[in-house]
Amino acid sequence: MARILIIDDSKLILHVAKTILSKQGHQVLLAEDGKMGLQTAATEHPDLILLDLILPGIDGYQVCQRIKTETATSDIPVIMLTSKSEPADKVRGLEMGTSDYVTKPFDEGELMARVNIHLQIRELHETLKEKNRQLKEMASRDGLTGLHNHRYFQETISKDFQRAVRYHESLSCVMLDIDHFKKFNDNYGHQTGDMVLKVLGGLIRQLMRDSDLLARYGGEEFVLLMYHTASKEAFLISERLRKAVEQHKFQADNLVLTVTVSMGVASFPHPEIADSKTLIECADKALYWAKQEGRNRVVAF
Ligand code: GH3
Ligand code: MG
Ligand code: MG
Repeated sequence: MARILIIDDSKLILHVAKTILSKQGHQVLLAEDGKMGLQTAATEHPDLILLDLILPGIDGYQVCQRIKTETATSDIPVIMLTSKSEPADKVRGLEMGTSDYVTKPFDEGELMARVNIHLQIRELHETLKEKNRQLKEMASRDGLTGLHNHRYFQETISKDFQRAVRYHESLSCVMLDIDHFKKFNDNYGHQTGDMVLKVLGGLIRQLMRDSDLLARYGGEEFVLLMYHTASKEAFLISERLRKAVEQHKFQADNLVLTVTVSMGVASFPHPEIADSKTLIECADKALYWAKQEGRNRVVAF
């Protein structure tokens, strides 16, 4: 079940609460003052905290404030334990970030019900966070190749370009486009074309450095971002990739197919390149020249 931390200076309250919650199958951790409570919260990261407001030393309000401001513990729900019935205390506690309160001496049924509600909310919250993470990841990927998509690339390059400027690092952008791919589709069918895009993406990803970025820029166009890489080195790496693609045999049913790619390389620092948009444009121009000069080649801007 869940792990619950009880912070209370009364041994009797600790004992009673522990008995009730243990019966439910929960694992119970105990702390007799605020300092110990904060320590246990940080090291054990419980699923829920029951917190007495009146404590020797650091009082319950301060404990709650610290739990809620520390990123490691801020998402743990806190239920106040209070013997006072004055609404003002409860309001103050709720304002400080507690989720609920239980008045002492507590009723077994009420304590269990409130604990269960907040454990459920926490679980829903965790599931939602995970789903959000998955959605964000999916939104940054291309469905066919599984590579990062155009949007992700644009966001990344603008940040990375600024960093390169600030720290005087070199940064290379390589545009890659499959040669005569329209004809390829016409000859072998769109499905075979899709297979080539997928396999090609995997091939390049496998040959390049893990720390560099590869994205599907558009239809049959890919883009590479090479960090700490100046023009000459980017050209050599691109040439190696171009050769590997040229030599790769794509299996389609009983056919063995090949494709070639043209690539344009642009690198920062360069007197004409002052922002990420221009870096992409220059790589695109170089790619255009590679096509003009006969395809299946690398041209540097
Ligand atoms: P070039 O050498 O000048 O690049 O010639 P090309 O035929 O490759 O260029 P063009 O821009 O004329 O055509 C691109 C082709 O890429 C057209 C389209 O059918 C194909 N293509 C784009 N996206 C996809 C895709 O997702 N799957 C498949 N199978 N084909 C695609
Ligand atoms: Mg093409
Ligand atoms: Mg194209």
